[in-house]
Amino acid sequence: MWMAAASALACTTTGVLAYGVRGRSSSLIAPSVCQGSADRRAIALTFDDGPSPATPRLLEILEKYGVKATFFECGVNVRRLPQIARAVSDAGHEIGNHTDTHRMLSLRSTDVIRREMSRAQDAIRDTTGFTATLFRAPYGVRWFGMRQAQRELGLTGVMWTAIGLDWKLDGAAVSRRLLRSVKNGAILCLHDGRGISTQPDVTSTIEAVRTMVPFLLDQGFRLETVSQLLCPTI
Ligand SMILES: [Zn+2]
Repeated sequence: MWMAAASALACTTTGVLAYGVRGRSSSLIAPSVCQGSADRRAIALTFDDGPSPATPRLLEILEKYGVKATFFECGVNVRRLPQIARAVSDAGHEIGNHTDTHRMLSLRSTDVIRREMSRAQDAIRDTTGFTATLFRAPYGVRWFGMRQAQRELGLTGVMWTAIGLDWKLDGAAVSRRLLRSVKNGAILCLHDGRGISTQPDVTSTIEAVRTMVPFLLDQGFRLETVSQLLCPTI
């Protein structure tokens, strides 16, 4: 009997841990948000894993429609492409911290986690002059030590309402998938890079954004940075 109870407890514990590590609405291990207020017809487009050589193509589309987005950048990519990181910031988009080398941080020590986050913070600030206040964990995986590092660096964790799977779906499928989930306050996750790859193929991302932005504007949505979405007075 006690073995069945112990087994059930172990299952429950494992389930809670899995939710804490990967659950997009979980704040068990490190606090994070996954959507803004349902009271305003506004959403946030977010792009992870940049900057990349393809980022300027996205900036052109966003500029054409006069909308702002949030780019969660990796420190390694920022140091490799500083002009593009500056172009993102100069265009009025928000830059968030996506760690230095895009490592999966589960099972890593507190020191490794802090170093990954602080190096990216330094790279973004030294390159663009902007101090990031938002953080997105690589692969959406939170781990012990992240909560403290977020607090020390003044970072709010940001997950997503819907993710495009743009690293494996074509542009039309990405667009359909995200538009199905759009609602007031949604935070949509796309990628203008692929980890720290130097020549990522982000064709599907660009195609999806080209379709989605005019559609969303037609539907009356404002496209805002994550900070604007979370705090409309900014
Ligand atoms: Zn990523």
